[in-house]
Amino acid sequence: MYSEEEVSFQCPYCFEDISMVFESLYGGQSYIEDCEVCCRPIEISYKVQEGQIILERIERAQ
Ligand SMILES: [Zn+2]
Repeated sequence: MYSEEEVSFQCPYCFEDISMVFESLYGGQSYIEDCEVCCRPIEISYKVQEGQIILERIERAQ
């Protein structure tokens, strides 16, 4: 089953609300993604619970 979900969160640098698409297929993941507004790297980790994306950590990746 292929599943992805768009989740909104606040950038830890510029505090803009941004949204990203996360895959729930492989369970939780963590990776670094650039903010689409200020282009600075954000460390994101999430888990998958009952098919829902739950963000666990949104931090500056430095
Ligand atoms: Zn930003």
